[in-house]
Amino acid sequence: MRCMQQFSIMKTKKERISKIFKILGKFYEKSEKPTIRKTSEKNDPFKTLITCLLSLRTQDKNTAKTSTALFAVADTPDKIVKLPVKQLEKLIYSSGYYKNKARTIKHVSQVILEEHDGKVPESEYELLNIKGIGRKTANIVLSFAFKKEVIPVDTHVHVVSNRLGWAKTKNATQTELELMKVVPRAYWKELNTIFVLFGKEICITQSPLCSKCPVSKLCPRIGVKRSR
Ligand code: SF4
Repeated sequence: MRCMQQFSIMKTKKERISKIFKILGKFYEKSEKPTIRKTSEKNDPFKTLITCLLSLRTQDKNTAKTSTALFAVADTPDKIVKLPVKQLEKLIYSSGYYKNKARTIKHVSQVILEEHDGKVPESEYELLNIKGIGRKTANIVLSFAFKKEVIPVDTHVHVVSNRLGWAKTKNATQTELELMKVVPRAYWKELNTIFVLFGKEICITQSPLCSKCPVSKLCPRIGVKRSR
């Protein structure tokens, strides 16, 4: 009896998750995709990785501008390693934290060139072993560039998932593990793109726009103290 009840609760939760994905998928159907997603469609894992590093803590328009400028000059590990640091910094200046990002991009390119024959490794273990690549970046590369079944979790994904009650977690890694338990695999690929758009425009971290939210009827608004 208890098992039946648990199954039925689980089924309801999964059904609600599917419903929310369908609504949000339609809501963002015609939205412009983030730069990182567009870059990954070019089937070049190295460009996907570098674009992801450029996108950290900056707006998408800056990622678009700096990745285009950089790849016009250097789009392989070999070319980036040979690029003078000052020139690299200048090319990526608008992405913010340009000195740190230049250092990371140089180091990552060097390791890929010297230890992985110039190819981006396809395993999480190898990616995480490269200094400068964190879990979110590794999962973006694995999901977007190599089509692996993982869920990249950033602040938006973490916050939205907790408000919706899909996870009850304190950090992104815990959220990733919880989402893998409850979200049907069919949605893993699109989850990051949809939640990042949703988190930037509606389910905003500081104060969500619940009055304009297309899934408000399905959301328990967990932890939301102030909404608009
Ligand atoms: S109702 Fe509010 S808290 Fe819930 S998903 Fe929508 S914007 Fe976020």
